[in-house]
Amino acid sequence: MSCCNGKIKQELGIIPKVRKLKNIAEGFAKLAVSRTGMDFKYAKERLSICENCENITWLKDAEFAAWLAENKLSVLKNMESLEKLSDLPIKPRRALTRRYCVKCKCNIMAKIHSKEERCPEERW
Ligand code: SF4
Repeated sequence: MSCCNGKIKQELGIIPKVRKLKNIAEGFAKLAVSRTGMDFKYAKERLSICENCENITWLKDAEFAAWLAENKLSVLKNMESLEKLSDLPIKPRRALTRRYCVKCKCNIMAKIHSKEERCPEERW
């Protein structure tokens, strides 16, 4: 038995999840800033790689929400490593869709703006 009943170990396990949430928040904040005209060169370079990748998918909010609903418990448990979960469905570009990575399940426009984020296939 440990002196803290495993509380420290449990709290240390939360750190990667907090880091992932920070990256997501940073990505969306920088995406919002880039829409005002500020240039993030690394984001443009990453986007051109993602745009030519077979792992890009275009999902409507309802389609992404359906995948989240199916996988909600797994998503919470694996927040920092969503690439372990089943791939997102591959859909073509259509009206009212957003770009996602089939592998890491991230919103690509937010992901490319977060400095700490990495391509799960090590392409950037
Ligand atoms: S993050 Fe990597 S794997 Fe995902 S779409 Fe972009 S280049 Fe492809």
